[in-house]
Amino acid sequence: MTLLFRFFVLTCLCLSAAAAERPNIVIILGDDIGYGDFGCYGATKVRTPAIDKIASEGLRFTDAHSASAVCTPSRYALITGEYAWRNPAGDHILPGNAPLSIRHGTLTVPALLKQAGYKTACIGKWHLGLGDTAPDWNIELKPGPLEVGFDHCFIIPATGDRAPCVFVEDHNIKNYDPKDPITVDYDHCIPGHANVIAGIGRIGAMKGGKAALWQDDKIAETLTAQATSFIKNNRNNPFFLYCATHDIHVPRVPASRFRHASGAGPRGDVIEQFDWCVSEVIKTLDKLNLATNTLLIVTSDNGGILDFGDSPERDGNVASNNGHKFNGPLRGTKGTAYEGGTRIPLIVRWPGKVQPGASDKLVCLVDTLATCAAITGQKLPKSAGPDSFNLLPILLGQTKDQVRDHLIEHSRRMGVRQGPWKLLTPDKRARNPKMAARTELYNLADDIGEKTNLASQNPDKVKELTAILQKDRADGRSRP
Ligand code: CA
Repeated sequence: MTLLFRFFVLTCLCLSAAAAERPNIVIILGDDIGYGDFGCYGATKVRTPAIDKIASEGLRFTDAHSASAVCTPSRYALITGEYAWRNPAGDHILPGNAPLSIRHGTLTVPALLKQAGYKTACIGKWHLGLGDTAPDWNIELKPGPLEVGFDHCFIIPATGDRAPCVFVEDHNIKNYDPKDPITVDYDHCIPGHANVIAGIGRIGAMKGGKAALWQDDKIAETLTAQATSFIKNNRNNPFFLYCATHDIHVPRVPASRFRHASGAGPRGDVIEQFDWCVSEVIKTLDKLNLATNTLLIVTSDNGGILDFGDSPERDGNVASNNGHKFNGPLRGTKGTAYEGGTRIPLIVRWPGKVQPGASDKLVCLVDTLATCAAITGQKLPKSAGPDSFNLLPILLGQTKDQVRDHLIEHSRRMGVRQGPWKLLTPDKRARNPKMAARTELYNLADDIGEKTNLASQNPDKVKELTAILQKDRADGRSRP
């Protein structure tokens, strides 16, 4: 064997070893799915066989959190590795005509994975803004997903219940008709879900674009087809798919075969539709023989809520929910600082790498960036992902310790989690002065439902946790 040939063989071996360390990464992010919404987390009135199977083959987290109790800031943190409360452009629910909330030059999850040779796609709900100012919907829409690191996108620009009700593919509105220009207005429209678009009340008004309007009962099918075709088209190279479903946000208009399918009303029906979407992704991975080399994550952007847009009959109410405990034993809902606001289902499957089981480690979707960096052997620059911790040691079963010392939960109030302790800062915007001054402290080890406020008994613990929050704020970062 000549030296040159030996070198060639060695190089090939090294390259294939490197390739093996680049698993495909698929995140299926549900919207407003609560801690108790899947069978594997205790649900009995909705059927989620595909997700339950993933849970039996993967690691199911019991203390996983979104970085915020509502959509935009939660997604901002997932994509950037930075708590959204550090950025006023991304720290609240954005209107459908907001500019891009991610700062120019931010190292995002897709940008990081692109550096490692991944093809990257964002399919589904975006809700992180488009354009440098309020977008003109009749020209190219940028900056947006493609400018922050995605090679391809097919998105709902904001939410299913916000104008505009059109899909955006890469830089353009799908089925755009220049003879029917689109205007979107959030300043002069009726407040709330009172602006009827495609027969459903939405937030924000929209004119024009008739040919481009989506059909609500086809959203799940459309997004799932987009997701699976991206997988098929990229079977031969490592890919990152961020698939952010519309389900189970309002309006809850599933395909007809899911209507009345569950035992928990319209809200349960769209959970079953979400499970179908997961099953289609799994089937596609299996068919292409990609399951083993794919890290699959199923999770949600914030806790569950029994809400409705313009119609409780369509979206669900207390009666139709039928006693389904969408946040399990947790107190609070989406939008609150209690655990029901941010504790979410999180399942990670990576056959042969992640041992099946359950993990009670404190983890957060903001950790996605640092974890993806570790998976692909990249070192995060100091300035990137200031709040992102590497979860790979937990995923690979290499540590029994916590990876993060504490976590800040973001809503109108802030929550500080450390060990069994949970501090809730006063809600300064509360109208009731007593509420506006109230600090709460819970010991989740024996009070998971946050029922007994221990703040007055434990002033030192209150001080200690308050100081953690102040330090994280002042430092502009929480990771080393
Ligand atoms: Ca949400």
